[in-house]
Amino acid sequence: MNYSRIIHVFILASALSACNLLKKDKSENGFEYNDEYDYAEIEDIDSNYEVLSRESKITNYKAAKTVFTDLIHTKLEVKFDWSKSWMYGKETLTGKPHFYASDSLFLDAKGMQINSIYAGDQKLNFKYDGNKLRIQLDKVYKRDEKFQVVIDYIAKPDERKTSGSEAITSDKGLYFINPRGEDPTKMPQIWTQGETEASSVWFPTIDSPNAKTTQEILIRVDNKYVTLSNGKLVSSTNNADGTRTDHWKQDLPHAPYLFMMGIGEFKIVKDSYTKADGTKMEVNYYVEPAWEKYARNIFGETPKMIAFFSKITGVEYPWDKYNQIVVREYVSGAMENTGAVIFGDYAYKTDRDLLDSDDNSTIAHELFHHWFGDLVTAESWSNLTLNESFANYSQYLWDEHRYGLDQADYNAEKEAEGYVSSANQNGFHDLVWFYYESQEQMFDGHSYNKGGRILHMLRNYLGDEAFFLGIKNYLTANQFKAAEFHQLRLAFEEVSGEDLNWFFNQWYLGSNHPTLNIDQYFSVANQEVVLTVTQTQFEDVQLFKLPVEIALYDDAGVHVHKVIIDKAEKKFVFPVKGKLKTVIFDHQQMLLADVVNNKPQEEFIAQYYVSNRFKARKDALLLGTFDPSPAAEKLIFDALKDQFWNLRVIAIEQADLLKDDYKTRGIELIKSMALSDSSSAVRSSAITFLSNHLAATEFETLMLQIISKDQSYTVLGNALTSLSTSNVRLAMVEAKKLEQEKSSKMKSGIAQLYASQGGETELQFFEDLFKSNILTGVDAIYGLNSLTIYMSRQKPEIQAKTVDLYRIQQKNGGVYATMFMPQNVEYMVNSTTNQITKLEAEIEGFEKTKDMVYADRLRKELNKYKSILKDLQVFQAEIAKTESNTH
Ligand SMILES: [Zn+2]
Repeated sequence: MNYSRIIHVFILASALSACNLLKKDKSENGFEYNDEYDYAEIEDIDSNYEVLSRESKITNYKAAKTVFTDLIHTKLEVKFDWSKSWMYGKETLTGKPHFYASDSLFLDAKGMQINSIYAGDQKLNFKYDGNKLRIQLDKVYKRDEKFQVVIDYIAKPDERKTSGSEAITSDKGLYFINPRGEDPTKMPQIWTQGETEASSVWFPTIDSPNAKTTQEILIRVDNKYVTLSNGKLVSSTNNADGTRTDHWKQDLPHAPYLFMMGIGEFKIVKDSYTKADGTKMEVNYYVEPAWEKYARNIFGETPKMIAFFSKITGVEYPWDKYNQIVVREYVSGAMENTGAVIFGDYAYKTDRDLLDSDDNSTIAHELFHHWFGDLVTAESWSNLTLNESFANYSQYLWDEHRYGLDQADYNAEKEAEGYVSSANQNGFHDLVWFYYESQEQMFDGHSYNKGGRILHMLRNYLGDEAFFLGIKNYLTANQFKAAEFHQLRLAFEEVSGEDLNWFFNQWYLGSNHPTLNIDQYFSVANQEVVLTVTQTQFEDVQLFKLPVEIALYDDAGVHVHKVIIDKAEKKFVFPVKGKLKTVIFDHQQMLLADVVNNKPQEEFIAQYYVSNRFKARKDALLLGTFDPSPAAEKLIFDALKDQFWNLRVIAIEQADLLKDDYKTRGIELIKSMALSDSSSAVRSSAITFLSNHLAATEFETLMLQIISKDQSYTVLGNALTSLSTSNVRLAMVEAKKLEQEKSSKMKSGIAQLYASQGGETELQFFEDLFKSNILTGVDAIYGLNSLTIYMSRQKPEIQAKTVDLYRIQQKNGGVYATMFMPQNVEYMVNSTTNQITKLEAEIEGFEKTKDMVYADRLRKELNKYKSILKDLQVFQAEIAKTESNTH
């Protein structure tokens, strides 16, 4: 599952406060827009981090589920009542006792109506409590005897209750979207989401990652619908009543949480992949009709990725086909259902949208799960990193292969930041974690981001050949089975010949990461450098053993020293030939550590010119320009021409430090970058820089030129916002022209402008925006925030429409809008309350001076605000009830 998309949103939440509009608003209203959210997060989670007592270490231990029964085959025959959001199911389940003979079968079955259970002709007795189904088999079965039961049931996902009285929204398992067609903006559809333990909402099973079964599903639908499920479509039969039955079958076993169905009037865009043995298989893309023409550009890299991952793992893609589908109101980022992967609607991108960002990382992530997760499955949620760290690391592997080291390293650093930010919010825990409270906690920056960075370190330590052979070893030894992290260690030990417990103990069974302080002393007399590396992490954090490369650059060239840091403090002495240029600690920039490097500024500057790694060059740009100097200015100027786009962005951000001649030349260069840099992120940063460095008229002319020709919506959005700081009228005129662009990103850019500048006329834009349901992914957050700020500035007649628009967005905006709705509502509640307090004080003042006409006039205003506040509070109570955990 791709949770990292959601982790990124949390980071975005803090990034939002850096956004111009919000910052302005924050200072005017004194409301801590995002900080409050972060704070609440921290408070919530602290409670999970009590130190476990000796007893509770035993009682809270999350063991893998004991296997009493082996599932063998699951056959489902299903049809739907769209009007009731019910699924009628008939399940034929084949299994056998795992070891001990038994006459009972225990299944998970959540919120179902169980009609009957048979074994052959014999009706079986069962007990069902709404969650667990205990079936009395017709006799005692031994471990070499198969049994088969047929269960007739109805799944009612919308009617299921938790222990409280509220309906579950986040783990319904089976989702009916706009099933009665009441919302014209949303194509009616049905889809499923199994992970973590929600497949048992739509079929009785052993809903555990250490269970595996082959499957077939016969889906009966109206002829107008297409269906998607795991495995091959073996037949499609028209029925007498005008319906059609699609028969999907997968002969290779996988875990129940990977079962999938997708149904709707999707278009199927066909692509293919040919396996090494010559077998051609389907690689199809299921999209809504409007997106048919874009599907190949969105997903088109998939066949190349399948070929690449098959090659580097040494294990050919094991499944029948690889189809991908985009659904509405999805509850996660994406999900690796075997051969039938689901994406949220953020994946819908036009060719112009794709100029700014694509979803290839997510596509790679879900695809790599087909080896790590689907073929070999983590035996328990505690071991989740066995699935997610590899899926996460596949993004690095793909970037490295497709776009080069810089792009891979750039994303790797973002992943490391994501881990730290997730740990700061939710606490640090062991990577393989046996003490979570809810399995959903495992879907965090540890299992994904940190796990991915650890694999990268292991690869650096073992070398590529041993690392990838180890992977092949692990996949082959454990295919179609469940595994725990020891099996991964043993696979690498077998290949490398080395006992790797030291590595796995500290990284998999330990928590946190090292903090390193590097002090450097260059003795000219002895022609040597003394490097002191100190592990400065707090005492409750373990000491780490860290193999690392130190590169020393001098007049004779580069000398790479492979060392091991295995003490709290370690000293290294390296000889120097002639002049010392720089010492680069962690030459490959692969360590997961906070490193404070105390070396002279000129060594950082030299580091930029000698290193080919992104992070070393980035650090050089930030630390080598700390004190102004001609060399620092030259560095910034040179970095404006760096081969990698993100370093050009950072150089632009540092260009404020340029003076005199460098400044004149720098501004000229950045002007040309704003117009023609190949990266839209660079063009956008250049605009921001120029808004502070060009005269108003020159800047306005440049912005109009950019708005008329740039294809990137990110650039256009930033050009509009930047233009508004010097000429609001002009920005509003240009924004009006762009309102018709059918792009989520463009709309959210315009919304940000209208948030701070819009008046009564712009209400229509916001109404259309939310009714047309065009915002997807994170744009839904930006759009929502913009609406809130816009509304808080309007007169009460317009503000009165806020809750209506919130309601639409709460329903349409997906997981992102839902996640950020509470803080938006709270912001409006506070803003309205402030208005009320202010008016009450003014009324009191007029009454004292007996100025009743004014007092009456203000009282009318006051009543309007009170009514707005009441609406807001009603809505606030509504969403407090439905707030849910999403994964
Ligand atoms: Zn995943």
